[in-house]
Amino acid sequence: MNDSSRCENALFWFRRDLRDYDNAGLHHALKSSQRVFCTFIFDREILDGLPNKADRRVEFIWQSVAELRASLQAQGGDLIVRHGFADDEVPRLAVELGADAVFTNRDYEPPAIARDKRVERSLTHLGIAFKPFKDTVIFEGDEVLTQAGGRFSIFTAYKNAWLKKLHANGSFYVRAYPVEKYASRFAKSPHKEDMPMLRTMGFGVTNLQPLGVMAGMRGGQSLLQGFRQRMPQYKQARDFPGVKGVSYLSVHNRFGTVSIRELAAMALAENNQGAETWLSELIWRDFYFQILYHHPHVVAFAFRPEYNAIAWHNDETLFDAWCEARTGYPIVDAAMRQINQTGYMHNRLRMIVASFLTKDLHIDWRWGEKYFADNLIDFDLAANNGGWQWAASTGCDAQPWFRIFNPVTQSQRFDPDGKFIRRYLPELRDVTDKFLHSPWSMPLAEQRAARCMVGTDYPAPIVDHAAARDITLAMFKAARQ
Ligand code: FAD
Repeated sequence: MNDSSRCENALFWFRRDLRDYDNAGLHHALKSSQRVFCTFIFDREILDGLPNKADRRVEFIWQSVAELRASLQAQGGDLIVRHGFADDEVPRLAVELGADAVFTNRDYEPPAIARDKRVERSLTHLGIAFKPFKDTVIFEGDEVLTQAGGRFSIFTAYKNAWLKKLHANGSFYVRAYPVEKYASRFAKSPHKEDMPMLRTMGFGVTNLQPLGVMAGMRGGQSLLQGFRQRMPQYKQARDFPGVKGVSYLSVHNRFGTVSIRELAAMALAENNQGAETWLSELIWRDFYFQILYHHPHVVAFAFRPEYNAIAWHNDETLFDAWCEARTGYPIVDAAMRQINQTGYMHNRLRMIVASFLTKDLHIDWRWGEKYFADNLIDFDLAANNGGWQWAASTGCDAQPWFRIFNPVTQSQRFDPDGKFIRRYLPELRDVTDKFLHSPWSMPLAEQRAARCMVGTDYPAPIVDHAAARDITLAMFKAARQ
C-alpha cells in the first residue's frame, strides 16, 4: 500500500505510549483502517540485558500493559502481548493478521531507531508498510530550528523558539488525537492468548505496590489531578525535596501513560508562574530529545569534545560508597537511599549527587549515568544523559565547569529543617539542625547526645570538599588546555 491508500487491516505497535486516549499513531491507524489489531512486545533485546531481575520498570510496564489490554477489550478490541524479539515478533504478527501496515509512534533513542529500521526493512520485504508518528514530544527533530535553519544547543534560545512556534499555531500542537470515536474499528485477536506473566519472563515483583506507585493511565491521571492543585506553587516549592512540590509524573512521561500534549495544554491553560515554570521543564524534555537526535555521539562522549580529555580518577571504592549511600555527606546519602529504595530521586538531588560524583569524587559522569540508568524507574536516555552532562559541565548549556556545588550549603538551602534527610537517614534523626548537614563537625558530647557517633553510626566524610574542588578545577583547566 502507498501513503494515501486506506488499510483493510492494520497493526498498531505500542512501545513507550501505553495509553488508548490521545495517541497519535493509534489515532492515525484507526482513522485510516477498517480493522486495527494492537500489540505490545516485551522485547528480549532490552529485557535480557537488564541486570536486576526485580526491576521496578518491568513491573510498571507489566501493570500498565495489563490495564491497557483490559481497556482495549472493554472497547471491543484487544492487545496481543508477546515475549520475544520485536525484530521477529512484529513482522510475524503482521503476516499472521494479514496487516497491510504497521503503525507506531516514533522513539528517538539510537538503539530504538536502529531496531525500527530493521523492522521496517523486514516489513518492506513482506510488502507491509511501516508508519511511525510523532507522539512522545511536542516538537521533534528539525521542527524547532534557529532562524538560519541551524540546531539549538542553548536552552533559553530553544525555549523561545519553541514557544513562538507553539503560539503561532493556536492550539494545533497540543490538540489531542482522539481514539474513542473510532473505537468500533478495534479488532479482536483471532486466537485467545494470555498475557505473559512477569515470572515466566524471568522477573520478580518489586516494592512498587508498597511504595504506592500506581502504574497505567489511572496512575497518571491520579498524579496529574493532584498536581493540578499544587501547580501554582510549583515555582517556589520545586527545589525542596522534603515537600511535595513537583509532579512525580516522570515515569508516566517515560512510558506514555499520560500524554505530553495534555500536560502542555494544562500548563498553558493555567495562568500562573507555577504553570509557566512547569511548562519550561516540559520544554527541557523536548530540548534533550532533540539534542540526542541531532548529536547521538553524546551517548558515549562529551557533548563538548574538549572535555573528553578530562582525566577522571575513577576510584572504585569511592564509587561504591556513593552508590551505597556511605559518603558521609547527609544530603548525598539521603538522595542515594531515595533512588535505591524507591527508584525515584528529586531533581535538586539528582543535580547534587551528580555534581558530587564528578566534582568531589572525580568519577566519570558515565559511571553515574549508568547507575541511574539501571536504577531510575523514570530512566530516559535523553534526559539522563542531558542531566549528567549538565552536572559534569561536559554538556550543552551546562553548569559552568568552575561552578561546583557545595554539598553542605546545598543541603542547608534546600533541606533547611532536615525533613528529607531524616526521612532517609534515621540514624541522624536526633542530630540537631545545626549539625545535620555536616555531622563530622559535631563535638563528641553532641554525638553522644544524638546517639550518633561519626565513624560508627554514620560515616565520616570520604572526601574533603574544599580540597576536592581544587583538584576539579585543575582537571578541567588541564583538559581545556
Ligand atoms: P517535574 O518537576 O514535575 O517536571 C515535569 C516533567 O518535566 C518531568 O516529569 C519530566 O518529564 C520533565 N523534566 C523535568 N525536568 C527535566 C529535565 N531537567 N530534563 C528533561 N526533562 C525534565 N528525567 C527523566 O525523566 N529521566 C531521567 O533519566 C532523568 N535523569 C536525570 C539525571 C540527572 C543527573 C538530572 C540532573 C536530571 C535528570 N532528569 C531525568 C530530569 C529530572 O530530574 C526529572 O525529570 C524530574 O526529577 C522528575 O520528577 P517530576 O516528574 O516530579 O518532575
